[in-house]
Amino acid sequence: MVSGKMKPLVENNSVIREMFEEGKRLAAIYGPENVYDFSLGNPNVPAPDEVKEAILEILQEEESTFVHGYMSNAGYEDVRETIAHSLNERFGTDFGENNILMTVGAASGLNVILKTILEPGDEVMVFAPYFVEYGNYVGNYDGALVVVSPNTIDFQPNLEEFKRKITEKTKAVIINTPNNPTGVVYSEETLRQLAGILEDKEKQFGRGIVLLSDEPYRELAYDGVQVPYVTRYYKDTVVCYSYSKSLSLPGERIGYLVIPNELQDSRQVFTAASIANRVLGCVNAPSLMQRVIKRCIEKGASVNLAAYDRNRNRLYEGLTECGFSCIRPEGAFYLFVKSPVEDEREFCSRAKKHHLLLVPGSSFACPGYVRIAYCVSYEQIQRSMPAFRALAEEYGL
Ligand code: PLP
Repeated sequence: MVSGKMKPLVENNSVIREMFEEGKRLAAIYGPENVYDFSLGNPNVPAPDEVKEAILEILQEEESTFVHGYMSNAGYEDVRETIAHSLNERFGTDFGENNILMTVGAASGLNVILKTILEPGDEVMVFAPYFVEYGNYVGNYDGALVVVSPNTIDFQPNLEEFKRKITEKTKAVIINTPNNPTGVVYSEETLRQLAGILEDKEKQFGRGIVLLSDEPYRELAYDGVQVPYVTRYYKDTVVCYSYSKSLSLPGERIGYLVIPNELQDSRQVFTAASIANRVLGCVNAPSLMQRVIKRCIEKGASVNLAAYDRNRNRLYEGLTECGFSCIRPEGAFYLFVKSPVEDEREFCSRAKKHHLLLVPGSSFACPGYVRIAYCVSYEQIQRSMPAFRALAEEYGL
């Protein structure tokens, strides 16, 4: 019964399940406190108090049919207006409610926009290492994923290779900054160069190429690092934002797309994307959560970034002291560590013997590295240090 398109996904799913099962198995034998699971990107910092307050206030103050009802497929106008206003204040943009489309998180936002713009066979470019689901999302609309190989010097995109790989079939490019899995923030210079290349190619081909900026980690940047706002560099940009990480609400499924007026055929794209939201079966983003977001923005709510920052520093310093090498992440909650041996899967298996669960870089099209998600308790990081040290010693670091 299962379709040919789904079968490989089912097989691949078992790899992830295996890791999950392995974690459970180790925890049952050695106790959960002696297993160091760094595999999942599930925020451990709680949602800010404003979220709970907003939920209670809304349920008490607002009329219930409104709170739980359908609305326009693009979302509540006042919520969209509040988001637009907040973006304008922070990034000097000029958005209005008609540029904001509420989505069921970034995953859904990406699917909505890909459904809106892709013809079968259109190419969508990504920069390795990249979030593995992009391949599935592009495949949903029979697009072809084109992978640009990683620049392991600083993990900024490899723009030389990018330029060479753009073809007349290139319809979109996905970037993700701050990046999962490297934690790198793309610099202003990178974005300028990327925009320059795309503008030249648009002129050459006489057609638009959409830059999709996937931004679930926008608010998770450390040391005062600024994350440049991509619409300011390239007019054919669509932003996919999510509150999964910025307000620790991954299970609530709430985010938005920004479709700027400057985008080619902007109004048509917005209308088509609203319909895509409907026909993909989302219909609209969760009603209560939309209203919560409005209140949280008005109150300036944010997650406790200091907790992630503390984890980042402890882990980065701990691992580099052990002899591991790793680029210091400026954002998100991941560390991308160089495997001491070429086959990082072997390294992950050895790590598991020390009860350390890490994700191989080949899952992000970047073999030779492993991802460590530090959205875990500080205590877990402290407890895991002897295990990392023992692992490093095994490799003679
Ligand atoms: N994009 C990236 C790079 C991610 O890491 C994730 C989730 O981890 C998503 C998109 C999906 O986020 P959401 O929960 O908003 O669908």
